[in-house]
Amino acid sequence: MSEDCLFCKIVEKSDPATLLYEDEQCVAIQDIFPKAPVHFLVIPRQHFSGALEVDGAREQLVGHLVAVAARLARENGVAEKGFRLVFNTNAHAGQTVFHLHLHLLGGQALGGMA
Ligand code: 5GP
Ligand code: ZN
Repeated sequence: MSEDCLFCKIVEKSDPATLLYEDEQCVAIQDIFPKAPVHFLVIPRQHFSGALEVDGAREQLVGHLVAVAARLARENGVAEKGFRLVFNTNAHAGQTVFHLHLHLLGGQALGGMA
């Protein structure tokens, strides 16, 4: 738990969010400013800033986040046509919340990677 972290507050349920899924390792919420018809965030309960901090036991955790995202993609009807999973990391990727989170985007053609 990091005092000033928005996603820690959401994980702790001291800030509101539309909760889609939770287990002992992570929560999944609706993104408040969706960039696609399906735009969810899969957030580990443990606070760390991003993909550069993934090592050791966190490798298993990040695999779990991907598995949860894939399940949500299937349950929300975007698996067959396709979806995108993204970890924005630092400024050039536009990361704004420095608590690791996996974006699940789908429900429309997403365009090519820049
Ligand atoms: P980043 O740019 O750091 O990869 O992604 C942060 C995401 O969090 C953005 O897509 C943004 O719309 C979303 N977001 C920011 N504040 C809130 C909030 O208070 N609630 C929810 N549910 N999503 C948020
Ligand atoms: Zn946090």
